[in-house]
Amino acid sequence: SLKGKTAVVTGSNSGIGLGVAEELARAGADVVLNSYTDSEDDHALAERIGKEHGVTARYIQADLSKGAEARALIKQAGRCDILVNNAGIQHVASIEDFPVEKWDAIIAIMLSSAFHTTAEALPIMREAGWGRIVNIASAHGLRASPYKGAYVAAKHGVVGFTKVTALETAKEPITANAVCPGYVLTPLVESQIPDTMEKYGMDRETALNDVILTRQPSREFATTEQLGGTVAFLCSDAAAQITGTTISVDGGWTAM
Ligand code: NAD
Repeated sequence: SLKGKTAVVTGSNSGIGLGVAEELARAGADVVLNSYTDSEDDHALAERIGKEHGVTARYIQADLSKGAEARALIKQAGRCDILVNNAGIQHVASIEDFPVEKWDAIIAIMLSSAFHTTAEALPIMREAGWGRIVNIASAHGLRASPYKGAYVAAKHGVVGFTKVTALETAKEPITANAVCPGYVLTPLVESQIPDTMEKYGMDRETALNDVILTRQPSREFATTEQLGGTVAFLCSDAAAQITGTTISVDGGWTAM
């Protein structure tokens, strides 16, 4: 059980981050939810998770494209036994057409924010004598695709930074690992299905099989619950000697 531990999950008002926060709360952890918005829905979500799982759940707004806000998130959380760096965005364009501000935002939100939160969290974990850092990378942290230059660079960077974090904490009861999902059916991906169907004149099943899931040999999406379960496993005692590595949840993508 993760009772008594506090988990900070970045980018957790939707998708994988929300799934991870739910599973950690189910395992008994107090959770801090985060995104860049600060709406009633955001706070209601934390309240719902807290009530449902009998844990303390808070929502803390922070725009992780800004290093100072990433650091403030951890400071404001106060405790941080489990840090899950999950917030992310995507932009698809060729290198020569890639908008500079999109490049900067992707590197800041997905790579630099993990540096800032980790730098703030490590002293807190050392003080507590226990810590788990889980960075949500991607199959694109291990493989490339055209037109996703910033995303692939940031995710490969996250995998590398995870290894350095593991080496710097190797002699301590702290681990750092990266989870590498293939396609997960989140609102972000769901919203791409109608466009793909229209663009190729395909029904939903064909669009999924022949376009969206073409690199995922299982031809099935991973679920946010499965991602949450993987993170919960990495936080368990069974995973105490797992550090500095990646766990793929990708239906066989990286076997190819
Ligand atoms: P999502 O859009 O549902 O969730 C992204 C989260 O990040 C949201 O909560 C969003 O509010 C937050 N976020 C975005 N910009 C932010 C900012 N500036 N500051 C704070 N929070 C911010 O997408 P998702 O699919 O759940 O993605 C979550 C992570 O998983 C991302 O890092 C993504 O790259 C990774 N991932 C997703 C898939 C997939 O198929 N969905 C596959 C591999 C990896």
